[in-house]
Amino acid sequence: MAEVSRHQLNLLRTLVSGPVFARGDDALAAEVAAYNVLVTHDPDLVVGAESEADVAAAVRFATEHSLPLTVFATGHGSYVDVTEGLMLTTSRLAGEVAVDVEGRTATVAAGHRVSDIVAAAAAHGLAPVVGSSTSVGAIGYILGGGVGPLARTFGMSSDWVRSFRVVTAEGELVHADATHSPDLFWALRGGKGGLGVVTAMELELVPLETLYGGSIFFDPEHVGTVFTAWLEWTKTVPEALTSSAAIVRFPPLEFIPEPLRGKTALHLRVAYVGESSEGRRLLAPLRRVAPALIDAVGDMAASDIGSIHNDPADPIPLWDGNVQRLLTHADAGFAEAILETVGPDVDVPVVAAEVRHLGGATRRDVPEGSAVGGRSADYSLLLAGLPDPSLFASALPQAMEGITGRLAPWLSETTLINFQAKPGEAAVSSWPADIRARLAEVGEAYDPRGIFSGHVAADGSGKM
Ligand SMILES: Cc1cc2nc3c(=O)[nH]c(=O)nc-3n(C[C@H](O)[C@H](O)[C@H](O)COP(=O)(O)OP(=O)(O)OC[C@H]3O[C@@H](n4cnc5c(N)ncnc54)[C@H](O)[C@@H]3O)c2cc1C
Repeated sequence: MAEVSRHQLNLLRTLVSGPVFARGDDALAAEVAAYNVLVTHDPDLVVGAESEADVAAAVRFATEHSLPLTVFATGHGSYVDVTEGLMLTTSRLAGEVAVDVEGRTATVAAGHRVSDIVAAAAAHGLAPVVGSSTSVGAIGYILGGGVGPLARTFGMSSDWVRSFRVVTAEGELVHADATHSPDLFWALRGGKGGLGVVTAMELELVPLETLYGGSIFFDPEHVGTVFTAWLEWTKTVPEALTSSAAIVRFPPLEFIPEPLRGKTALHLRVAYVGESSEGRRLLAPLRRVAPALIDAVGDMAASDIGSIHNDPADPIPLWDGNVQRLLTHADAGFAEAILETVGPDVDVPVVAAEVRHLGGATRRDVPEGSAVGGRSADYSLLLAGLPDPSLFASALPQAMEGITGRLAPWLSETTLINFQAKPGEAAVSSWPADIRARLAEVGEAYDPRGIFSGHVAADGSGKM
C-alpha cells in the first residue's frame, strides 16, 4: 500500500465535507466501533462521508493512492480487524426514509438501519422484508440477499430492491436497476461487497400491518420432543408461515427473564402472514406437544418484527469461528444428531444452535435473476460459540469440529454470505461457480483494481 503523506491527507480534508481521521487520532476508534466488540478497526484513514460527493472523492482518493477501501455502516458484519487502507463510514448519509405510499417504495440512504425503514413504512401500513435483527445496516444487510422472519412468504430481502445508487471505483455515480447497468444491479442483489459504495436504494414495501407471530420458549426437559416435533411440523406448513428453532444456553444473569435464566431452553420463533385464527390453528399441534415456559405468540404489529428473534441491539462479542451452513435435508435423524451434540444434556460451549426454516419464496429468483446464492435449501443452521476469548484457540474449534462431524450427513457446503465471518472462505462457499464467475466479471468491470473489500476474484477467492 502506498504511503499517504501529511500533504495528501490535508488535500483529502479539502476534498470532503465530512470528518477525516488518520491512525492515531483520538476519535478514530469511536468512528469505527463495531457491533462485534471483539473487533478493533485501525485503518490508515477513515472518512465519515456526509454526501455522495464525499463518497466519490474518498473513493477516487483511495483508487489514486492504491488504498484498499472498506465500507463501514454498523459493524454487524465485522469479524476481522481492518488494519490498513481507507475505511468509509456511512452513518452520516441518513436523513429521512422517504416513503412513496402509492408506489409502495422507500428510498433509503446508506446510513439507515433496517429499523428506520420499518418505522417509516409502518406509518403507512407498509413494511419492508427484513431480517431477524432490525439494528443491522439496511444496505449491508440487503447486499447479502437477506433472509429473515418473513422469508418463506416474501423471499430474500434483496428481491425487493428496485434500484441502487452506486459510486464505483472510478468515483462515478451509477444508477443501477433492471434496465440501467443491469449487470451491476444483478450483482448487488446478493453479491455483497466489492462492487462499489451504495449511497442509496429504492426498496419495494409490502402492505402489512399485523402478523400472528412471536416467540415460544420451552424448558430443558421438553427441548428434545419439541425440536423433533417442530422439524416434522415445518414440512406441513404453508409459505405464509416462517419459523425457526434455537437451542439457547441462557447465562445466569440478571437481564435474562427469570424463567430462562441459566437454562438451556428451546426458543421457537414464528411469523404467520394471515388471519390470526388460521395462525392459531396452524400452531395448535406444536402447542400440544409440551407446556411452554413462555408463550408470546399472538397478534402483533408488523413493525415489532425485531421482537420475534429479539437479537441483542447493543454491541456483543461474536466469535469468527461460528459455523453457518445450509442443510441438504432435515429429517428425524438430524433432530437426533442436533440433540445429541448441542441439546440440554450435553456440556458444550455453544451459546445458540439455530435452525431456520427456509424454502417457499426464497427458492424463487426474481425474473431478471440475481446473485443470491443458496436458494435451493429448505433449512439453514447457525452454531454460535460461547463468546469467551479463552475458548477461541482450541476448545471452541474442537467442539465445532465434533459437532459438524456428527452433523455432516445433513450439512451442505453452502453458506449464506450474510453470515460469513471467514474472508477467505466466503466467495467459494456462498455462491455456486456460475454466480461466482459472473460476480468476478462484474467486479472486474466496475472495480478492475480490486480496491473494494469483498471483491470476488475469478479463481473463487475473496476478501471481505
Ligand atoms: C445479531 C445479528 C443478526 C443478524 N441477522 C441476520 C438475518 O436475520 N438475516 C441476514 O441475512 N443477515 C443477518 N445478519 C447478518 C448481517 O445482515 C450482515 O452482517 C450485514 O453485513 C450487516 O451489515 P451492516 O452494514 O450492518 O454491517 P457492516 O459490518 O457495517 O458492513 C458489512 C459489509 O456490508 C457492506 N456494506 C455495508 N454498507 C455498504 C454500502 N453502503 N455500500 C457497499 N457496501 C456496504 C460492506 O461489504 C461491509 O463490509 C445478522 C447479523 C447480526 C450481527
